[in-house]
Amino acid sequence: MNGSIQWLGFTGMGLVAVAYVPQIIHLVKARCTAGVSTWAYLVWTLSAAILLVYAITTEDPVFISLQAYQLVALTSINFLSRRLKGQPCDVHCGKPADTEAEIVVMSDRPITNSDTPLPRR
Ligand SMILES: [Zn+2]
Repeated sequence: MNGSIQWLGFTGMGLVAVAYVPQIIHLVKARCTAGVSTWAYLVWTLSAAILLVYAITTEDPVFISLQAYQLVALTSINFLSRRLKGQPCDVHCGKPADTEAEIVVMSDRPITNSDTPLPRR
């Protein structure tokens, strides 16, 4: 491998590493599995394991690092999504995420149905 261009591979690997972070943070913090396809992540995990073996045989440090990282990240997502299955967060349930974001009506007049008209068809 040409060492002078290896930085390009590690830059790409860094971007891949960053791409997994929001999904893992959402799984850990919100304990939410919405949008995680267990089948797809399982196949990606298997693919990362096979590609890691291939990368080791080709002795490419970028490819080895990338596949090793992907294997860890994908295994973590698989483990967490199976453990937390069926527990979507408030945002993915359609509820407001933050109770402080509620609309406060500053009026003495009682709220009537005409204040919230139904959408026209
Ligand atoms: Zn969620």
